[in-house]
Amino acid sequence: MRIKVLLDRLTSCFYPGRCPYCNTIITPNSLCCEECAKNITQEDIINKEIYCSNVSPFRLDGMYKNAIYSMKFSNRPGYAKQLAMPMVASVKRIYGEQLENIDYVAYVPTTKKSLHSRGYNQAYLLAKYVAMLLDIPCKDLLLKIKENDTQHLLTRKKRKHNVENVFGFNNRYNIKDKNVLVIDDIYTTGSTLNECARVLLESGASKVLCTTYVTAVAKNRIENDFYISEDFSQDINEN
Ligand SMILES: [Zn+2]
Repeated sequence: MRIKVLLDRLTSCFYPGRCPYCNTIITPNSLCCEECAKNITQEDIINKEIYCSNVSPFRLDGMYKNAIYSMKFSNRPGYAKQLAMPMVASVKRIYGEQLENIDYVAYVPTTKKSLHSRGYNQAYLLAKYVAMLLDIPCKDLLLKIKENDTQHLLTRKKRKHNVENVFGFNNRYNIKDKNVLVIDDIYTTGSTLNECARVLLESGASKVLCTTYVTAVAKNRIENDFYISEDFSQDINEN
């Protein structure tokens, strides 16, 4: 543990943390800068799917939207640690004791095309830090076995169909009776996480919980359908 702390300090000299909300330099273990900290309010938005449930600390709005978009679209992978921190806080509050039985942290895999153009999978980076903060191993349990259309160009109904059978289980692992926490960046219709959970459960997992940094679902969820804010439809969730 001491070596880890030492390495952390050494790394922070070369790679200082940045506030994901205003990009000023901060110490790597802080959530954000002092100014932005005054404006942060965690909401713990919960959504239940057929095969899993999801919690997000924030809505896809304002400073939270800017932060995740910067990480995702403006080459800021270094924000991952700071963005993972409130996810861990939400997960601890909402899942509570269930967390003690989580065996693996997994993440939504991205397309090869997206990985190539962006250079990183933001869901993996978030998962890496969530796993580290929770002290649970992070594994590539899910594989993208089919390249699908970009989700954000599709309607809600088509999104659901678009993710069917695109994820496969990584057979290097045995997850019989194991519990998995799946990480993604943005929760939209829930179809991506629901499909990931289905694959894990069919591969033997006993329970799947999920967390994303933000959720795009508005407060009023009407008769099993979602209201998704319009400005959201443009450019997110390529998984
Ligand atoms: Zn700031």
